[in-house]
Amino acid sequence: MKVNENILISSLTTMRLGGAARYVLEVETPEDVADAYGFAEQYNLPTFALGYGANTIGHDEGFKGVIIINRMTGISEEPADDGVRLKVMGGEYWDNVVEYACNKGLTGIEGLSKIPGLAGAAPVQNIGAYGQEIADTLEEIEVYDTAEKTFKTLKKADLEFSYRKSILNSSAKNRYFVISITLILHSGEMARPFYKSLEKYLTENNITDYSPKSIRAAVSAIRADKLPDPLKIASAGSFFKNVYVSDSEAENCEAKGLPVYHGKDGNKINSGWLIEQAGLAGQEFHGFRVSDKAALVLINESATSYEDLAKARAEITAKVYDKFGFWLEQEPVEIQ
Ligand SMILES: Cc1cc2nc3c(=O)[nH]c(=O)nc-3n(C[C@H](O)[C@H](O)[C@H](O)COP(=O)(O)OP(=O)(O)OC[C@H]3O[C@@H](n4cnc5c(N)ncnc54)[C@H](O)[C@@H]3O)c2cc1C
Repeated sequence: MKVNENILISSLTTMRLGGAARYVLEVETPEDVADAYGFAEQYNLPTFALGYGANTIGHDEGFKGVIIINRMTGISEEPADDGVRLKVMGGEYWDNVVEYACNKGLTGIEGLSKIPGLAGAAPVQNIGAYGQEIADTLEEIEVYDTAEKTFKTLKKADLEFSYRKSILNSSAKNRYFVISITLILHSGEMARPFYKSLEKYLTENNITDYSPKSIRAAVSAIRADKLPDPLKIASAGSFFKNVYVSDSEAENCEAKGLPVYHGKDGNKINSGWLIEQAGLAGQEFHGFRVSDKAALVLINESATSYEDLAKARAEITAKVYDKFGFWLEQEPVEIQ
């Protein structure tokens, strides 16, 4: 285990905000994980499991506790019914997993190409894009249960996945440290119909090869065009969650001309559309710019404090509420 002290959270997260964390422990074996939590308990310090920091925001005062980062990497595979079972260590960079699967002609996660982050964080908010979610292919995860101080396997059903949600970021928040994830993937092609923007890209570029590799290339190109590269531009990706409404609310919204998508996960109103319609795309708030290419994304152009983020968030959400009556919810998690 690597022990680091007084590390700026801004250097560990893609939004690049946050003061110093007292300890940052990088765990390299399952035993390290138990030791890391034991260390925190011994000194009565709070803990926070961190991956790549692409969906996490730090506070100005930092964190007087222990951040634990999974550094266990590796992908192994074995045959499964009609496919392949991939076991991925939680410290593996997520996009390496997608690349590995696509190179083997395995479908199921090609739509999740280029989502920044580590594999261990992928089930936490049930990452999703282009019509796929990790819940579609995840079989189980191995965790360290900090409440019972044991290693456990949690099956997909135990995780209670829904849109950007699992027990890991709700009812059991901070209880489990993800050591590895296991996916079941199949040979073949992405299920049709394709997500609207993907279909549009494929048609416009005369692409009729729907193999995982080809879809990965298409998704990567679409994302490169509209989403900030976290290595160059500070953001936490989508800063707001999409809005989900009941069937009766959906009818009301449609009557008022709001576009509602009726998907397998419910009636969705795209929050990016709400932000655009409120006239906020491209505008700057306290050092944060609402992306003009993907209005759900807040880019940190010059802000250095959480205070600025809080002000920007309050102004944007109030403007959307005034126009549409929806309070937008923040997607990224905060270290506190
Ligand atoms: C440019 C950009 C584009 C993005 N696009 C998408 C997208 O298309 N779809 C999407 O769903 N998300 C997207 N995101 C958000 C982000 O990439 C995902 O949420 C990703 O899974 C975060 O991984 P991470 O390792 O950075 O997690 P972190 O931000 O480090 O952590 C996120 C959460 O997971 C928990 N966590 C991390 N590791 C562990 C562990 N080992 N055990 C237990 N809990 C853990 C943390 O405590 C925290 O609650 C985007 C972000 C950016 C910056």
